[in-house]
Amino acid sequence: MTNLQTLFADYIAPFNGEALYNEPLAGHCSFKIGGPAEIFYTPQDETALISAMRFARDQGAPLHILGNGSNVLISDKGLQGVVIRLMGGLTALTVQEDGCVFSGAGVSLKRLCTFALENGFTGLEFAYGIPGSVGGAVYMNAGAYGGEIKNVLKTVRCVAPETFEIKTYDASSLSIAYRSTPFMHNKEIITGATFALEKGDTEQSRARMNELMAKRKASQPLEYPSAGSTFKRPKDGYAAAMIDQSGLKGYRVGGAEVSVKHAGFVINTGNASFGDVMGVIEGVRAKVRETFGVYLETEVEILGEE
Ligand SMILES: Cc1cc2nc3c(=O)[nH]c(=O)nc-3n(C[C@H](O)[C@H](O)[C@H](O)COP(=O)(O)OP(=O)(O)OC[C@H]3O[C@@H](n4cnc5c(N)ncnc54)[C@H](O)[C@@H]3O)c2cc1C
Repeated sequence: MTNLQTLFADYIAPFNGEALYNEPLAGHCSFKIGGPAEIFYTPQDETALISAMRFARDQGAPLHILGNGSNVLISDKGLQGVVIRLMGGLTALTVQEDGCVFSGAGVSLKRLCTFALENGFTGLEFAYGIPGSVGGAVYMNAGAYGGEIKNVLKTVRCVAPETFEIKTYDASSLSIAYRSTPFMHNKEIITGATFALEKGDTEQSRARMNELMAKRKASQPLEYPSAGSTFKRPKDGYAAAMIDQSGLKGYRVGGAEVSVKHAGFVINTGNASFGDVMGVIEGVRAKVRETFGVYLETEVEILGEE
């Protein structure tokens, strides 16, 4: 155990959460890439979350947040300091008195969508196949098939980074756009959110979810580890079309490859390293810039160093 790990073990013991040490992060993200986390902590409530945040601040240790790890590429060297994983903790799901659905940040989007359906709500069909947590989806305003989290988001509950104050934002007061929210800059940690959904036809809603899931299976390389669309949609056009038209389908570095099925996905064909995926990202960027004069920004968040 490192000194930090020993201190953490003593400090965190009274709180409601699970601490692991030197935990391989490849097992906690959809790319299946990533070295060990010095400290890996899953808090079950806000008190435990705030305690871990306070520990990191007091010790001057780096703090990293993970939801379900479906939009991250993590270094093979792993992550020093404290990694807080919210998926699996903070799992409350309720219909509030005002008719809005409250979800803890650690609930999977799939579970939230099913819960909404079971309670006669519609409006979340687009999110059913997105493999993230509610916190991760709010963090980056996830979206698909014409829907976006911001269209159904009512409030966001979060913890401020330095003061540990618990805040609730009205979503209409937040500046949220395509794959962009204030949480991507302000380091506030989302612990839950409420969603304003319409009552509707459950069978129609279920059919729409199944239809969209089938579309995903037909068009996306779901049989390989990946983090979904690697790049954000550029201002003029679509990343996948630009990558395809640059002749990059199947472009490979080590075990990482631009999917032949969907050029927007970089896949791990089995034993890709962090460096392999970074190599594909850089290669794609260079070629697309040469072909279209467009710089592709990653949608996937890169954690740690090469
Ligand atoms: C096969 C596949 C298909 C996908 N399809 C889509 C799609 O259609 N549309 C789409 O938008 N995305 C898609 N994605 C990407 C991904 O599922 C979404 O971006 C999802 O919202 C990420 O959530 P997560 O919980 O996995 O976040 P993570 O990957 O764990 O984290 C992503 C970022 O969010 C931050 N974060 C996570 N939780 C919190 C929190 N509670 N508070 C503060 N910050 C937090 C992390 O620090 C990190 O910076 C896909 C991914 C895969 C693998």
